[in-house]
Amino acid sequence: MTTNANLAKQLKHYFGFDQFKGDQEAIIQNLMAGNDTFVLMPTGGGKSLCYQLPSLLMEGTAIVVSPLIALMKNQVDVMNSLSDEPCLAHCLNSSLTKTAVQKVMDDIRSGRTKLLYVAPESLTKEETVAFLQTIKISFYAVDEAHCISEWGHDFRPEYRNIRPIINRIGNAPVIALTATATDKVRSDIKKSLGIADAKEFRSSFNRPNLYYEVRPKTNDIDKQIIKFIRQNAGKSGIIYCLSRKKVEELAEILRANDIKAAPYHAGLESGVRSQTQDDFLMERLDVIVATIAFGMGIDKPDVRFVIHYDIPKSLEGYYQETGRAGRDGGEGQCIAFYAQKDLKKLEKFMEGKPVAEQDIGRQLLQETAAYAESSVCRRRMLLHYFGEEYPYDNCHNCDNCLHPKVQIEAGNALLIVLQAVRDLKEKFRQEYVIDYVKGRATDDIVSHHHDELPSFGAGEDEDAKHWNPVIRQAIIAGYLRKDVENYGLLKLTAAGKRFLKAPTSFKIVEDAEFNGEYDEEADDPTVVALDPELYAMLKDLRKSMAAKLGIPSYVIFQESSLEQMATIYPVTIEELQQVQGVGVGKAKRYGGPFLELIAKHCRDNQIERPGELRVRTVAKKSATKVKIIQSIDRQLALDDIAESLGMSFDELLDELEAIVYSGTKINIEYFIRDVMDDEHIDDIYDYFTESETDDLRVAVRELGGDYTDEEIRLVRIMFISEMAN
Ligand code: ADP
Ligand code: MG
Repeated sequence: MTTNANLAKQLKHYFGFDQFKGDQEAIIQNLMAGNDTFVLMPTGGGKSLCYQLPSLLMEGTAIVVSPLIALMKNQVDVMNSLSDEPCLAHCLNSSLTKTAVQKVMDDIRSGRTKLLYVAPESLTKEETVAFLQTIKISFYAVDEAHCISEWGHDFRPEYRNIRPIINRIGNAPVIALTATATDKVRSDIKKSLGIADAKEFRSSFNRPNLYYEVRPKTNDIDKQIIKFIRQNAGKSGIIYCLSRKKVEELAEILRANDIKAAPYHAGLESGVRSQTQDDFLMERLDVIVATIAFGMGIDKPDVRFVIHYDIPKSLEGYYQETGRAGRDGGEGQCIAFYAQKDLKKLEKFMEGKPVAEQDIGRQLLQETAAYAESSVCRRRMLLHYFGEEYPYDNCHNCDNCLHPKVQIEAGNALLIVLQAVRDLKEKFRQEYVIDYVKGRATDDIVSHHHDELPSFGAGEDEDAKHWNPVIRQAIIAGYLRKDVENYGLLKLTAAGKRFLKAPTSFKIVEDAEFNGEYDEEADDPTVVALDPELYAMLKDLRKSMAAKLGIPSYVIFQESSLEQMATIYPVTIEELQQVQGVGVGKAKRYGGPFLELIAKHCRDNQIERPGELRVRTVAKKSATKVKIIQSIDRQLALDDIAESLGMSFDELLDELEAIVYSGTKINIEYFIRDVMDDEHIDDIYDYFTESETDDLRVAVRELGGDYTDEEIRLVRIMFISEMAN
């Protein structure tokens, strides 16, 4: 048997590492002694080495089952760079040509290849099995072993065939490795691989250097993300979104804001994807916006932040993805955006699936929601989820610990819940128990005659919004247990039974609210309040300027533009142009004094301008507007223009108003003179010169009803264009 000193020497020799990480050495010893081995180690813990090193030291070839082709290639390259032998490792997958497969087989037969990575679907091929039966296998490694279980976050049906195939190829020790496994997943893995007696090596899943935060997802999410990235300029980060569409959109918005970002998802060509990966590794890119397709096996040790734009479908997934931050032990900020609305969307996506799968999916989702909404230490919740007790009250490295909420007494509420669970014979889920304590006679409850039990409705007087946090926090505190194998039924623990006999104090923190507005389609990310003081000053300024110039004040800036200025505090001409209704022309002509006023106001009141983080939206410069302006330059009749653009005349007028109000000059006199009497034109024009307001209804009234809306609007467009531009 290999001595410890010898193992360490080999580690140094092949990998250049001075010592083993965590349990690596004990794991390798166990495997080399011929035992089945189960390894639970967080992402970045160094799982690969647990099979790579022994494969080099043992007789024969090790078979590594691994789910992703990209990941295999990456690892094969690493292995082959370790020695002079260029074919120490090989992979077999569907991307290989016949000749390449032949070469792999030759190298294995000659004994040069110590490690063969196989995709599960290649492993099940008849010719692969036939070939492997003829060679000496040192051991089987099953990486990302959670793929075996439909309770994991990445179920792959082919993983279920691994044991039967091993039986056919020939027996050898099995090592299963994963970074995520709840109790349920762990027992699934062992059962499916037939390694019930495997020795288990379990590292703590705690990643003390990772900071966890959950933010409500609001309409200014893009802005928040841009602000965050700017504050962390030059650092590498990954942003996960659930849909490819979102990935593309967000990457584009980031790029428009001078952030070196690129999209990554399975729909992109493989050449583009590997280029993006390389760019990220070489730091030509700072940020990758990705679906979960990105990251498995990408070994960039200094990813400094992982942002979840959408709440992930499971905590396993979340933990795996956040685990990609700070692998080197340095900073790793993990920020997830969460809105209850998103959950509903995710549930909807599941609707087409088989009922059993939906049920699992929904339970996993609920765990994620509970995590997001809770005010309990996030680390503690995560570790509890993975079956590990976090021994401290405050981790000092999550939002909930850094900004603790006030605790409230919930001993009575807990007692009511525990009694309910007992009276319901521990046979129901959380939602049912909550309906029961609230005294809601749902069809389900009535059909079980539970509304006739004495403890039905025992919690009617308690604050209704406490029930979820009470139950979730009772689970963490160990009074209740969720039986995951059994549809998540709530069970009493020994501590729970003791509490029933002798109730004590039980403190909880209330959940945070996440039912705010998040509207996918909202395109103005600025949702901030108007500064009434500034607004009043801006209006005064506009008035005095109008008087001085002898023009109506609305010609200078519209009311709505002033409101926006008083909201986003622009202080440069460029920023001013981002205000609705302000174009280049207007900004230059009238903007100066307004900008000065705003800047002074900000200084005087120490206002942190949201304008500094004002987000440039992706140029959606309306092609329609451009067409209209070009057509008017060619002096086409307005009704023809409207028709050619498939819009009504009114709609065209709307567009024209938007154009001139934002300060772009268009000359429609040729058209007006063609369709209206000169006298009428002058009449309306004069009215606007003298009027206090450009309001259409007022104009109609003041002009004595002699003109149609259309006529008035046409002249007003001409007037604004001439006056303001
Ligand atoms: P996992 O598969 O558990 O997520 P990896 O096997 O990809 O982790 O290893 C993560 C990182 O740790 C890699 O960069 C690897 O080179 C490094 N590593 C593994 N073992 C050691 C060790 N004993 N000493 C130093 N670094 C190690
Ligand atoms: Mg790995």
